[in-house]
Amino acid sequence: MTPVLRSYTQDTWQDGGGPAKPLLDAATGETVALLPATGPDPAAMLAYARRVGGPALRALTFRRRAAVLKDLAKHLRGHLEEFAELSTRTGATRRDTAVDVDGGIGTLAVYAGKGVRELPDATVLPDGDTEPLGRGGTFAGRHVLGPRLGAAVQINAFNFPVWGMLEKFAPAFLAGMPSVVKPAGQTAYLTELVVRRIIESGILPEGALSLLCAGPAGLLDALTAQDTLGFTGSAATALALRTHPVVAGRSVPFNAEADSLNCSVLGPDVTPDDPEFALFVDQLVTEMTVKAGQKCTAIRRALVPSASADAVADAVMERLRGTVVGHPAGEDVDMGPVVSLAQRDEVRDAVARLSADAKVVFGDPARVDVTGADAERGAFLSPILLRCDDPAAPAPHEVEAFGPVSTLLPYSGLDEAAEIAARGGGSLAGSIVTADDQVARTLITALAPWHGRLLVLNRHDAAESTGHGVAMPQLIHGGPGRAGGGEELGGLRALRPYLRRTAVQAHPGLLADLA
Ligand code: NAP
Repeated sequence: MTPVLRSYTQDTWQDGGGPAKPLLDAATGETVALLPATGPDPAAMLAYARRVGGPALRALTFRRRAAVLKDLAKHLRGHLEEFAELSTRTGATRRDTAVDVDGGIGTLAVYAGKGVRELPDATVLPDGDTEPLGRGGTFAGRHVLGPRLGAAVQINAFNFPVWGMLEKFAPAFLAGMPSVVKPAGQTAYLTELVVRRIIESGILPEGALSLLCAGPAGLLDALTAQDTLGFTGSAATALALRTHPVVAGRSVPFNAEADSLNCSVLGPDVTPDDPEFALFVDQLVTEMTVKAGQKCTAIRRALVPSASADAVADAVMERLRGTVVGHPAGEDVDMGPVVSLAQRDEVRDAVARLSADAKVVFGDPARVDVTGADAERGAFLSPILLRCDDPAAPAPHEVEAFGPVSTLLPYSGLDEAAEIAARGGGSLAGSIVTADDQVARTLITALAPWHGRLLVLNRHDAAESTGHGVAMPQLIHGGPGRAGGGEELGGLRALRPYLRRTAVQAHPGLLADLA
């Protein structure tokens, strides 16, 4: 029988109600699970997290919480194969699962390690030194950081059902706040399985993690100023949440990670014979095909010197011709389907809009050869490469095709490359592929105000490079403008939204020992 997803709160798995939506296997179209329209009362979920989870977490020191995260990461690693099997149904190949599932557990482990090594065995965190405020030395001031008293609510996108939850959960937990997770409907079954394994381990204190497998109705209305709201998804939803009367009216701390038209720039110094040329092509093809391009950090715009544009197009097309699209469990398959037939329609629609200003040079959005599956029952798409020779054309800088799609944009000089990059209106990740450090420095300076993260790739660092699209827990993930204007990860900086900073004025003896 097809499982109906349940929500977890108040120490119980709870049934939802209303008409259930079938969630279909991305490759076969079979029903994987049913998603109820409504779940438990979100106000009661938040109240329980605040009343039970918050105090339990605040009773632990930062280091103790880090030790709990360490146990949890170890426990989840023991279930990797089970998670990977279900992840296949979202359309993920084993390589894609490594980004979401292994990457999510790895992020948890990084936060555990950082917490154990870098945070004190205390429940509040001094922030900066004591500042003398009187001539006699009896009165001073110091900032302290302590956990907010609410719940850390996270609303996630469909493309990272595991990493999306764990990368927000880990810093919130470490800071001392309980999490309430609302996964995107389409892939909620994988999030639910991971939460099941977490809860049944008994590793977390009661109330530290709740799960809402249903629509979001009522969730935002129940927020208070002590809660936080972390969102990942489209720019349109981010805007709706940011301007929600409760979020805006109660000054609920809000972080958005939205869509992003990321670019990769090939330096003018690079010729087809240089190793950087192959590195650029390889990275672009990787970003187009990993998770079938459904990564917020994927390269949507490939900026290449005009003189090399034909050579780059030929090399990328050659690689794409060898890309095997098919059932994600297939050993020889390079790229699985996008997450759903509806998502495939959205990508086709976006390619049609891009085609107003750019020409499709590889792939047919309407058809693709597929191995091990039926091309029509599954949400399969060919990788699509477009080319736009008009730097003033708007579509490549406005339309996000959230699939295996990228546009080549020739540029005529570094100033123009920087201008084109900025036309994305703010991005999560950019890369610069060059062997010339002066080119790299010029582009870093020009691109930094528009980017959350910049990767410089060349023959010297390629072997260890973590890649354009991979958000590292040690570094900021987020970007200005269109990318949502938020920041996540970045090592222990990620704890900040969950900690309230207060200036305390007192005698210096007290301030020296506030923890
Ligand atoms: P989406 O449609 O904006 O949905 C994201 C989440 O918001 C889902 O959980 C959705 O719930 C929920 N939601 C929608 N309307 C809501 C409302 N009025 N109130 C509360 N919650 C609401 O985005 P998506 O299609 O899942 O994800 C794809 C997009 O996410 C892409 O544009 C991609 O670029 C972006 N993304 C960004 C990042 C990043 O880190 N910056 C990472 C991944 C993806 P339902 O599913 O139940 O509708």
